[in-house]
Amino acid sequence: MNKENIYKQLTKEIPNSKVYINEPMKNHTSFKIGGIADIYIKAKTVEDIKYILNYVKNEQIKLTIVGNGSNILVKDGGIRGITMQIDLDGIHINEETVKVGAGVKLATLGIALKKEELTGFEFAAGIPGSIGGAVRMNAGAYGGEFSDIVEKVTCITPEGIVKELEKEELQYSYRHSRFVDTNEIILYATLKLEKGNEIEIKNKMDELMLARKTKQPLELPSAGSTFKRGADFYASKIIEEAGLKGFKIGGAQVSEKHSGFVVNVDNATAKDVLELTQYMKKVVYEKFGKELELEVEIIGE
Ligand SMILES: Cc1cc2nc3c(=O)[nH]c(=O)nc-3n(C[C@H](O)[C@H](O)[C@H](O)COP(=O)(O)OP(=O)(O)OC[C@H]3O[C@@H](n4cnc5c(N)ncnc54)[C@H](O)[C@@H]3O)c2cc1C
Repeated sequence: MNKENIYKQLTKEIPNSKVYINEPMKNHTSFKIGGIADIYIKAKTVEDIKYILNYVKNEQIKLTIVGNGSNILVKDGGIRGITMQIDLDGIHINEETVKVGAGVKLATLGIALKKEELTGFEFAAGIPGSIGGAVRMNAGAYGGEFSDIVEKVTCITPEGIVKELEKEELQYSYRHSRFVDTNEIILYATLKLEKGNEIEIKNKMDELMLARKTKQPLELPSAGSTFKRGADFYASKIIEEAGLKGFKIGGAQVSEKHSGFVVNVDNATAKDVLELTQYMKKVVYEKFGKELELEVEIIGE
């Protein structure tokens, strides 16, 4: 089926979700980079997600899942088939237990938890992702990570079966969970927090946000830390020691403020970023014998 027909059919069949055709992925990524997605869907209900899973299976269409686009680099050729952003809303607070939709932004949840005087989430409030992306990546910062607070996850398999998984089943480790190795889609996460004090929570969030603003190039598009922390080294430190700070290929640059970030300084293409990261890996390996591993995920063609 051609994409015009897919677009027409989906617009009719899943009216609660927004469907786009030939959608530039630079509009949906914090890097502001990426070719077009043939079909892009902001999925707002579990029923619509089920519909799409069934649809791609029947029509044999490739499906790509995204959240808030803050840890991905979409290649310049774009994404074929259907790209589905999991955009489920909802924050349900019951004492210290919080059930939250995969599409909720961490910043939005941070504001709600501060108001409800629930503590334990402060580390995450400045991470520009969605709950789905953060649960999958075990996102973390300033001594905390998602595995500290996730109690349960509701997910859906590619076959459309909804499952509830307990923390022990999530296989959490550094920037990893079972969802990295399976095609399960995160729908909801249940978090366990503790009773706190609004002023103290606010002060902690402000302190961490200030630390981010001071150290990270938040004024430029990026996907956060480009590489993972190594077993015995910090990527940013070793990149700086390799003399790469400020190094540029095309519109992509090793941030002058934080060598762990590659930033889009001048309409960078994905090709610029990939060439730059390859070069960084090569120089670091030649100088120190250490392998840099990408934290940012590359999708598309
Ligand atoms: C300025 C900046 C600062 C950052 N700081 C941090 C930090 O301190 N700590 C940190 O850990 N990260 C940080 N990041 C990276 C990023 O914000 C996190 O990794 C975040 O958790 C990604 O979430 P997302 O919704 O944007 O996911 P996306 O980038 O959209 O997707 C990432 C991956 O998750 C998958 N995915 C998304 N949603 C779902 C779902 N519902 N079900 C299954 N799979 C899904 C996608 O398929 C993709 O493989 C930073 C990024 C930026 C730009």
